Amino acid sequence: MLAGRRYRLELDFGQVLIAEKVAGICRSVWNTALEQRREYRRRGAYIGYAQQCAQLAEAKADFPWLAEAPAQVLQQILKDLDQACRRHGTWKIRWKSRARWKPSFRFPTPAHTPVEKLGRKWGRVFLPKFGWAKFRLSRPLGGRVKSATVCFDGRHWFVSFLIDDGLPGAAEHLLPGTEAGVDRGVVTAATTSEGEFFDRAHVTEHTVSTHTPPGEGEPGGAFLSAKEAERYLRLQRRLVRTQRGSKRRKKVVAALGALMGRLRTRRADFNTQTAHRLTRDHATVVVEDLQVTNMTASAKGTLERPGKNVAQKSGLNQAILNKGWYGLERALISKARYTGSVIVKVNPAYTSQRCSACTAVDPKSRESQAVFRCTTCGHVEHADVNAAKNIKNRKAAGLVVSGRGDLQAPAGSVKRQAPRSIARGTHCAPRAAA
Ligand SMILES: [Zn+2]
Repeated sequence: MLAGRRYRLELDFGQVLIAEKVAGICRSVWNTALEQRREYRRRGAYIGYAQQCAQLAEAKADFPWLAEAPAQVLQQILKDLDQACRRHGTWKIRWKSRARWKPSFRFPTPAHTPVEKLGRKWGRVFLPKFGWAKFRLSRPLGGRVKSATVCFDGRHWFVSFLIDDGLPGAAEHLLPGTEAGVDRGVVTAATTSEGEFFDRAHVTEHTVSTHTPPGEGEPGGAFLSAKEAERYLRLQRRLVRTQRGSKRRKKVVAALGALMGRLRTRRADFNTQTAHRLTRDHATVVVEDLQVTNMTASAKGTLERPGKNVAQKSGLNQAILNKGWYGLERALISKARYTGSVIVKVNPAYTSQRCSACTAVDPKSRESQAVFRCTTCGHVEHADVNAAKNIKNRKAAGLVVSGRGDLQAPAGSVKRQAPRSIARGTHCAPRAAA
């Protein structure tokens, strides 16, 4: 099966300059090619990949700097753009702005990027225009390389290999019939209907008292320490005061990028470990459908996540958690291929206000962040576990949505999307597919 492996590159000074230059060229090729496609569409015409590729080759005569990037990398950019435009439409595709874009470029032909093991801890990969680049061999490659992607993640350059590990996918789970609903939360990152708590501190005991209300706990479900969260807010304030294009702004942006890079690494690590345990222990994992959450979040307001200080700090929490949740979903889908688990998505509306025992819905039942006490039947439970049980029950009730939000049969529909998610995972995204 296809899997991703990401390693930290140890580029020398010259190679870092090359990487930055290549990344910049890729960005401008993307933007120029996108503009060209739009121009054609405005005239009612169409330009495709083959034509753009030919024009790129011609353009190298007039713009010699284009030749400083490996040809196959630029062709890959045009191919990615072509695919994106076909899938989403030319007008939906965004520019790669300097501020928003994470530098990333792919070498699609493994024959051009041979990989060698240098010892127990080091490996090296040959990248056209770069020469040999060393990387920390933090885990065995464990398969045949299909492509290599170089990307920058806040602080460091990485190389991601798409590999074929030759392992067969599991058709059936070893524990048939096991099922768990998973609720995401602000204080505990993920809670299951079976009463397991997953966060960075690995809280496994069912203890209500150790949970602090939102806004007072560690921001980001402990993915950032209190000090780091403070620093984040300070940097944000500083950023507002800087001028566009100034040196100071660059510095602040770099510092923010480094902080967020650290958070992403922790989050990816957490997602992988959590997904591993969830898919190992359960044949079916039921999660909330995020797109539905996003749509209903504003309408439900703070009722869905009650608490006293749902202001600034938990705004940060929420943002971090929302981002991470996609990562966990992706990690689950990836891991499920090996264990045979089925990942099911359900509409999450009112899961935190509904009683899992008698199904009565009342916002008042959510007594505090941690305690759910049903106003109808008096059922008392940890609020997150109650929500996770509701999520699990929704699957039993047949309220399953696919990734696109339409109703579908519960069996295995999400699992089949796996290859596409993995393909997406080969870009710079936090390594969920490991
Ligand atoms: Zn009840």
